[in-house]
Amino acid sequence: MTFNFNPGPAALPKEVLEKVQAEFLDFRGVGYSIAEASHRSPEFKEVIDGAEALLRELLDIPAEYAVLFLQGGASSQFFMVPMNLLGTGGSADYADSGSWSVKAIKEAQRFGKVNVVASSKAENYTCIPEFDTADCDPNAAYLHITSNNTIAGTQYALFPRPPAGVPLITDASSDILSRRIELRDFGLIYAGAQKNLGPSGVTLVIIRKDLAERSPEKLPTMLNYNTHIEKESTFNTPPTFAIYMVNLVAEWVKAQGGLAAIEKLNNEKAAMLYAEIDADDFYRGSAKMPSRSKMNVCFNLATEELEQAFIAEAKKSGLIGLKGHRSVGGVRASIYNAMPLAGVRQLTDFMREFRRTRG
Ligand SMILES: *Cc1c(COP(=O)(O)O)cnc(C)c1O
Repeated sequence: MTFNFNPGPAALPKEVLEKVQAEFLDFRGVGYSIAEASHRSPEFKEVIDGAEALLRELLDIPAEYAVLFLQGGASSQFFMVPMNLLGTGGSADYADSGSWSVKAIKEAQRFGKVNVVASSKAENYTCIPEFDTADCDPNAAYLHITSNNTIAGTQYALFPRPPAGVPLITDASSDILSRRIELRDFGLIYAGAQKNLGPSGVTLVIIRKDLAERSPEKLPTMLNYNTHIEKESTFNTPPTFAIYMVNLVAEWVKAQGGLAAIEKLNNEKAAMLYAEIDADDFYRGSAKMPSRSKMNVCFNLATEELEQAFIAEAKKSGLIGLKGHRSVGGVRASIYNAMPLAGVRQLTDFMREFRRTRG
């Protein structure tokens, strides 16, 4: 059996892929593929409305928030957020927890003042930076964090509380829909779909509508959140096929029992894998314990040669995509929602065998 531990684009639930295959040529009896349907057709309207309704249900998104399906990836949100929300002469607080935060900070600096409230750079991003409300600017336009750090394998277990009136914004590209969150604690959440939501090509943005009132009118139409709020993500052609797949993934998550059940399974998967890593010092977890990610489990072996042998042999055993990010090396097992427990079990079995023969 092959299991795909790719960091993104990542594994999709098998049931979803089978459904896509089954209805690819003739979408639910309309006589053509959903990939060929107009974004204004009734069949696509049902798909996009269905995706929004399911996400609202799963994440308990209140009515005062808009759910948008945009293009340009999470990387475009790095600039759309400050472009829309920073205001002239404004300043925003950012927590630096790794490469993706660094990129978000760099883009925000083009639009105003950025105050880095905390950074774990000195610890090589092996932990979530510690800070509290008192470290934040009460006049900041917002506080930005990266809830799960895909490359370093760290994740916020608890979210920071910004000062009253300062919205919390998170890049949740690699942990959206993986656990329950209190949505009202956030002003804006964005996520590229290709880790936990669907295929690449669509970016989910959940925004409290009143925040979009800040968007300067002079912004290009496509880069103004209000355009997409008013036109319900169909101002122009949205990534229709990717949205169709997000709808199917959301249906799948609901069928698993929703976020409570998904979270429980994700906890089990991560616990099983970390227990194997912690069994002795043959494997060494890269992230500090309280900051460990339940989505991207990163670890090292004694030497780079041993790591390479591990990755190559794992691949031969059907465990693919385990190479760590090129910037940090090591081994990374991405165990997003679609990774079944059986995949993690096959990986831990392999780890035990590899330790026995090479340890
Ligand atoms: C993958 C990833 C991104 C980049 O997403 P794109 O859709 O490729 O722009 C940004 N942030 C995080 C946390 C990621 O994991």
